Amino acid sequence: MDKQYSTVVLGGGESGVGAALLAKHNGETVLVSDGGVLKEKHRKELIEAEIDFEEGGHTKSIVETAKTIIKSPGIPENAEIVLFAKGKSIPIIGEIEYAAAFSKAKFIAITGSNGKTTTTLWIYHIMKQSGKKVGLAGNIGQSLARQVLHDDPEWFVVELSSFQLDSMYTFRAHIAILTNITPDHLDRYEYKFENYVRSKFRIVQNQTNNDYFVYFNDDPVVTEMVDKMEIAAKKITFSLTNTNCDVYVKDQEIVFNRVNQPFHMFYDELLLKGKHNTCNAMMAGIASDITRIRKEKIRESLADFSGVEHRLEEYLSIHGVQYINDSKATNINSTWYALESMSRPTVWIVGGVDKGNDYSELDAVVEKHVIAIVCLGVDNQKIIDHFKDKVSVIVETRSMEEAVVTASKLSLPGSAVLLSPTCASFDLFANYEDRGAQFKAAVRNL
Ligand code: ADP
Repeated sequence: MDKQYSTVVLGGGESGVGAALLAKHNGETVLVSDGGVLKEKHRKELIEAEIDFEEGGHTKSIVETAKTIIKSPGIPENAEIVLFAKGKSIPIIGEIEYAAAFSKAKFIAITGSNGKTTTTLWIYHIMKQSGKKVGLAGNIGQSLARQVLHDDPEWFVVELSSFQLDSMYTFRAHIAILTNITPDHLDRYEYKFENYVRSKFRIVQNQTNNDYFVYFNDDPVVTEMVDKMEIAAKKITFSLTNTNCDVYVKDQEIVFNRVNQPFHMFYDELLLKGKHNTCNAMMAGIASDITRIRKEKIRESLADFSGVEHRLEEYLSIHGVQYINDSKATNINSTWYALESMSRPTVWIVGGVDKGNDYSELDAVVEKHVIAIVCLGVDNQKIIDHFKDKVSVIVETRSMEEAVVTASKLSLPGSAVLLSPTCASFDLFANYEDRGAQFKAAVRNL
C-alpha cells in the first residue's frame, strides 16, 4: 500500500514548498506533488527538510488519503487532480489561507485586476520607512508560510490574485483593498465576468466592523457589487473625480479627507506618474493612515517611492527619445492608463497572446498620443485590422530586437517609445519579465 500523508501540497513552487515546510513544522506528514518538474533549489530544499515529493504527475491513491490539500494558485480549480480531490470531499485550501492561521499579524490584503503589485509594494515601502514591523507576501518574494515559520511581524502586506482568493475561506483582512475590476483571466472563470467579480470580493469575507474595505469609487463594476453585498467592514472610498469620497483628487492635489488624520499633497510630488499611480498612491496613503503612521511620514514615503520594474518604467533616454518599459501591461485597462499618461508623441509596441481584447476601448488614447504602432507578436492580425485606418504607420515585427530598432527609426527627438503589449507574452517570451528584460537589452544596444 502507498505511504499515507496527512497533508498533500499540490504544486512545488515557492508557495508550495513554503506550505510544506510549515506543515512539516506543525507535525503533519507531508507530500509535495507536482505535475511538472521542480526547480533544483526547491528539490534540494525538500530533500534537506526530509519532505517527500513526487514530480511529473499526481498519484491519486496517495492524494485521496490526505486530510488537507494545500493547492498552489497556478493550478486551476478544474484541473483533473483538483476535481478528483473535490469528488473525495477533501478540504482544499491555499497557502495564504493555511499560513495566515498560524500568524498573529494583522493583514493588509490587496486584490484587483491591475495595480496590485505596485500598491502592495508602495504600502510596504511606507510601512518599512516608518519603522513598522512588517512582512511582504502573496505573489511577491517569499511565501507567507515560509515567513510565518521564522518570524511573526505586527503586519503583513499581502498581494492576492483571484486564484488565491478562490481557495480562501477563513482568512480575515484587517484592511482589504480592491484596486479595480476589469475583465481578465476569464478562461479560469467559465468566461463569466460575474464569477471573476465574485472571486475578487472574497477579499471582504470574514471582515468585521473593526476592519476596513478600501475601494475605487470610479469603477462601476466595483460600486455595483458593493451596493448589492452586505459588507461588515468600514468602507473607505477613493476617486479621481468625486469630492464626496473619503479620498479624492482636486486642483492637482490628493486630498485625504475622511481618514484618520486629514492631509493633502500635490500629485506632482509623486515620482510615479499617471492617473493609475495617483489611484495607487491614494490606496497606499489610506492603508498607511489606518496603521497610524504620521502624515508627514506618509507624504514623504508616498513621494519617494520609485515604482516597480516593468510597470511604466522610464528606462533610458537616447537622442531625445524616452524608452518606457510597461511589459507587465497584459490587458486593455493597464495599457489605457499607460497611453493616457504619455506626455510625448508615442511609438507604441504592442502584441502577444490576446486574451480577448476589445481594442476600441483604446481608440481615444491612441488617437491622442500614438504616432506609430509596432506590432510584436506571432499573430498581429487583430491589432492591424483594428488600427489600420486609425494610425498611419503600422509595422509588424517578430523579435524584440527588431521591434526596438524599428521603433527607434520611427521615433523623433522629443517622442517616446512605449512597450505596453496589452497581451500575454508567451508566444515569443518566457514571461513578462523576460519580455521587459529583452526590451531593455535591445534599447541598450541601440
Ligand atoms: P498587478 O499586480 O495587478 O498585475 P501591477 O502593479 O503589476 O499590477 O501593474 C500591472 C500593469 O498595470 C502595469 O502596466 C501598470 O502600469 C498598470 N497599472 C498599475 N496600477 C494600475 C491601476 N491602478 N489601474 C490600472 N492599471 C494599473
